[in-house]
Amino acid sequence: MLRCDALAGVARHGFTSRQLQLRPGEIGTAGWAAAAASVGCAVDAVRRIRQVHGAIVRVVRPGEPASAPPDADAAITADAGTAVAVVAADCVPILLADPETGAVGAVHAGWRGTAARVVASAVAAMRAEFGVDPAHLVAAIGPSIGACCYDVGEELLGAFADAGHSSIDVAEWFSRDAAGRLRLDLWQANADQLVHAGVPRDRVHVSGLCTKTHAHVFESFRADGDQAGRMAAIVVAAGSTPIARTNR
Ligand SMILES: [Zn+2]
Repeated sequence: MLRCDALAGVARHGFTSRQLQLRPGEIGTAGWAAAAASVGCAVDAVRRIRQVHGAIVRVVRPGEPASAPPDADAAITADAGTAVAVVAADCVPILLADPETGAVGAVHAGWRGTAARVVASAVAAMRAEFGVDPAHLVAAIGPSIGACCYDVGEELLGAFADAGHSSIDVAEWFSRDAAGRLRLDLWQANADQLVHAGVPRDRVHVSGLCTKTHAHVFESFRADGDQAGRMAAIVVAAGSTPIARTNR
């Protein structure tokens, strides 16, 4: 379980490695129980989503019973003791926490979700639902495929332009390797989207760990294909009594 030092002062959270061997789509298994226990909650306190590479945000409200995971790519809650989680194997897991309200969020951003600004949708929903000031948020961008290994099709340039991203951003996020292949930097793209959404740059923390480069430690779809497991990113809402207040 990996943790972000800056986020740890705000919310209990973690990113699992391939040790847990989570399978796609599974819930309530020993792996999930271990992931939940590592952040100090029971597995039935974890609210999941069925990730569909979009930008829909699930809002988990107090007292909401566990249900079949709805289609969404982000989940947010301000219900103390409730956890939200996403899974990934190369796609980008992003955890968000607000030291003022205790609200948290978990976001899954592959290239489609990144093009659709899913992380910005999560920040906007935290503001609308819980009164979160984005300037107070702490964000942790977890292990996922780095630009070092993420060559993508030329059509992605058009997809990002069609989604309305500025040519300046697109030029920052895409590059070409020595062989002329297009590379996409999902870490930079999601960090920039958080900053555009009002999160201070120095509160956006990027692990910088590439899942494919370190496929012996992490689950990587690009490295292992259909055999790849999934890694969880999980965070627990602190409610109105945050663990610690961070410097602003
Ligand atoms: Zn890499």
